[in-house]
Amino acid sequence: MNEVVKDIINSDVVVVVVGGGPSGFGAAVAASRMGLNVYLLESSYLLGGIMAKCPGMPIGAAYPKGKSIGGILDEFLNRLYGMNPPAAEKRKCRLSEFGPEVFYNHEIATYTLFQMAEEAGVNLLLDATATEPIMDNNRLSGVFYYNKNGKQAVYAKVIIDCSGDGYIAAKANVPFDKGDEVNGQMMGVSLTFFMVNVEADKIEEYDDHYFTKYAEKGIKSGELHEDLHRIYWFPGFHKNTIFFNSVHIRGVDGTKSSDVTKASIEARKRVRQLADFFKEEIRGFEKSHVETTGPAVGIRETRRFEGLYKLSEEDIFIGKKFSDGVVCCDNAVDNVYRSSNTSIHTSLIEKGVCYQVPYRCMVPKSIENLLFAGRCISADSVALASMRGMSTCMGLGQAAGIAAGMAIINQERVLDIDYNELVKELQKQGVNGLGGEEL
Ligand SMILES: Cc1cc2nc3c(=O)[nH]c(=O)nc-3n(C[C@H](O)[C@H](O)[C@H](O)COP(=O)(O)OP(=O)(O)OC[C@H]3O[C@@H](n4cnc5c(N)ncnc54)[C@H](O)[C@@H]3O)c2cc1C
Repeated sequence: MNEVVKDIINSDVVVVVVGGGPSGFGAAVAASRMGLNVYLLESSYLLGGIMAKCPGMPIGAAYPKGKSIGGILDEFLNRLYGMNPPAAEKRKCRLSEFGPEVFYNHEIATYTLFQMAEEAGVNLLLDATATEPIMDNNRLSGVFYYNKNGKQAVYAKVIIDCSGDGYIAAKANVPFDKGDEVNGQMMGVSLTFFMVNVEADKIEEYDDHYFTKYAEKGIKSGELHEDLHRIYWFPGFHKNTIFFNSVHIRGVDGTKSSDVTKASIEARKRVRQLADFFKEEIRGFEKSHVETTGPAVGIRETRRFEGLYKLSEEDIFIGKKFSDGVVCCDNAVDNVYRSSNTSIHTSLIEKGVCYQVPYRCMVPKSIENLLFAGRCISADSVALASMRGMSTCMGLGQAAGIAAGMAIINQERVLDIDYNELVKELQKQGVNGLGGEEL
């Protein structure tokens, strides 16, 4: 039986953005600043995406070659840096393969995302899970979504899928791949948490970043799960807090609710194991306790859609530039527990290369008014493992938002927009290292 649509938003909506993570935030703010009527649908009640699901996760990939990618990300970070006291700081990553990272006060960062969206005039629909596109031959005329009140619909001229998993693009039959090219393995999912009230000055410098000696002991005694053989941690933004990005669950398909549910429950057990073990074994943690565990495991990778161009492993390692390049990146290939029980980081910094992601990676071949931005773009699995940092995703979102605006204003298909004009507009908005300009 067809369910009745409770409410229809139609009149003058022109852009619908699905998902309020880094890419959706960038897309909605950029499109709205062009004077367009933009609706942002977010299934949770928070903006930030993985920033909200893994609170405290440092923002990576903001500073390729040590310089800012610019644009909306820069505005966001500058607001945080400029507060009194500062709500964010740039630090060297503990892992040498990566560039600097941004640590921040999570509450203030989330509030700032809301503030910037409001100032840009974005219409926020929270608790709004987009479920299906409303198809009209080669176009989408809108999306159906669910909220507390039942099934709803919103019509639009351009739709930007920034849902991470790409629900709308998948249902619109845009072809996609999942996982690596060998056997479809996706990266591990992770539950993050803080230990607070740590006496950080008592923590000794251990032989490596991963407490491997201690981990081995815990695994041998049965106190720790065997996948906790490398315990990655670093000081949080606030004094005497330690952030753990250590509990990784393998073999999870992030598009399956049952997999994510099972993984989230199992991960909570491993968080307890780790916390108990640290309190018992590691000097400085005796009086500490767990706080701000993510609401569920964070998902690194699912669908990668087929676009006009597929960013490849070769492109990133030769630092390829494109005439329609919209954001710069030199993030390490960060393969977390994909096809093995460990993380493998391949540095681009050491090679001194910095690549651009082209606009065409966000454009489907056959649908005229759909874009996809963020981690679901057209890329091979190696390129994804590098370009998926929050900063790059926000930059891609900004480009998609402007492109959507151009397509609407000029009444053209998203694949026909003038790429040079897009790049020029991004440069005008402070995005760095594009159009032949050195970063
Ligand atoms: C465990 C983990 C650790 C990471 N570590 C780092 C790091 O240290 N530094 C870094 O820069 N990056 C890190 N990343 C990568 C980065 O966080 C993500 O790649 C990036 O957030 C992807 O942005 P996105 O906008 O594409 O998707 P997401 O951030 O996943 O946001 C998608 C949003 O869409 C919403 N949504 C989903 N489906 C729907 C729907 N049907 N309708 C409406 N809304 C929907 C979700 O609720 C979410 O808010 C990490 C990722 C994970 C999972």
